[in-house]
Amino acid sequence: MSAGMRPDYDVVVVGAGMAGATLACALVDIGLRTAVIEYSLPSPPVAGDPPTARVATLSAASRHILQNLGLWQGLLVERAAPVARMDVWDGARDEGQRIVFEAAEIGQPALAHVIENELLRASALARLEKSGAAELLAPARLTQIERAPDGVMQLTMEDGRSCKAALVVGADGPASPVRRLAGIGTHGRAYERRGVVATVYSDASPSGTAWQRFLTDGPVALLPVHDGGYSLVWSTTPAHAERLAALPERNFCDELDAALEGAAGRIRHAGPRQGFPLHFRRADRCVSPGLALLGDAAHVVHPLAGQGANLGLLDVAALVAAIDSGARRGDQPGELPVLEAYARTRESHNLLTGLTMDGFHRVFGHQNPAVQWLRGQGLALADRAWPLKHHLIARAMGLQGELPPLARMAADKER
Ligand SMILES: Cc1cc2nc3c(=O)[nH]c(=O)nc-3n(C[C@H](O)[C@H](O)[C@H](O)COP(=O)(O)OP(=O)(O)OC[C@H]3O[C@@H](n4cnc5c(N)ncnc54)[C@H](O)[C@@H]3O)c2cc1C
Repeated sequence: MSAGMRPDYDVVVVGAGMAGATLACALVDIGLRTAVIEYSLPSPPVAGDPPTARVATLSAASRHILQNLGLWQGLLVERAAPVARMDVWDGARDEGQRIVFEAAEIGQPALAHVIENELLRASALARLEKSGAAELLAPARLTQIERAPDGVMQLTMEDGRSCKAALVVGADGPASPVRRLAGIGTHGRAYERRGVVATVYSDASPSGTAWQRFLTDGPVALLPVHDGGYSLVWSTTPAHAERLAALPERNFCDELDAALEGAAGRIRHAGPRQGFPLHFRRADRCVSPGLALLGDAAHVVHPLAGQGANLGLLDVAALVAAIDSGARRGDQPGELPVLEAYARTRESHNLLTGLTMDGFHRVFGHQNPAVQWLRGQGLALADRAWPLKHHLIARAMGLQGELPPLARMAADKER
């Protein structure tokens, strides 16, 4: 960008999903002039409402990010459900080998927290609106991006409004218009599976346990939610997902009971069901001059270990760290060295997580008895081998490796 030019904003974030809305709060906190473009504003639940169907299991690292930004408070926390125990087993074999993770084993109160996606979005946007520090261009749909010869990014919205920024961040989800408009391709595959989600209730007392059984078509999982119910994520073939969606409630509950072998008690009620296509997809690159992608716009992973939103929040922390250290050197947020530092920090973790989820999906989808026997032995071994189990827990909690400052625990904020 030529010296002396001052665009309207330092950063325009396109998409106020969990990643984009959190990013905007973090950018404001480091003093950047920020705008957010979003066409669909959240419709969050209010106190007393039943849990919404779309939830995310947040790792400790993600929770630290929200704590450091002052977002881990109010209704979000009141309705966050701690996961004290995870019980995972292989459904393809009669002896059903299993692995159990307990927070107490590692001296923690929770392995993860289940939060409602819409509540996080709403909390972040409310914080931005209250502070008046960021401009919320919403509802508005981005339709065009151009990079001027001086390096300034010009964005145009469907309603004809336009603005200029030093950096455009595409946090606009799996179909990312920013990625498409920037001519960045993707690679990966569709799983030919759908994730069926619903809030369900069983007749057993809530225990803070998350249950997951691996079936040949995909895992069926129950995550505890704040009112004693569970959020169901059932990954299965599109035909089965369609059949599940059409079943009368009682038959659906019975089929779920059978799939879970009654582990969580008898399922007595199921709320409305929704289905989402599942992919393993990565952008061919996630930065170019004046542009960065993060969250699902950059990478989509199978939800079997609940990592998608966590990856997006770690992207947020890494991008903010790269912009902040660039600013100390006098670099603008859209300059390539700044963005490449962000991309380098996230590359291996995002890739490894996607490949691991893909590997689990393949291994547990295998019908070959030898593979089934081997994976049963693997689960049993991991359950007994403490160093390996500890490694798996630390990894799932996002506490492994070098974390960007925003994802580290601030001692005065832990609760
Ligand atoms: C069934 C299922 C279960 C899951 N469970 C978990 C879990 O337990 N834990 C976990 O960590 N992850 C989980 N995930 C993954 C997680 O939901 C996603 O990774 C996360 O929601 C992605 O957030 P995002 O902000 O990157 O994108 P999105 O949530 O897709 O947000 C993108 C935003 O961009 C906006 N937008 C798009 N185009 C435009 C435009 N042209 N102009 C303006 N705005 C635009 C959209 O309206 C949207 O608000 C699950 C996913 C599925 C499918």
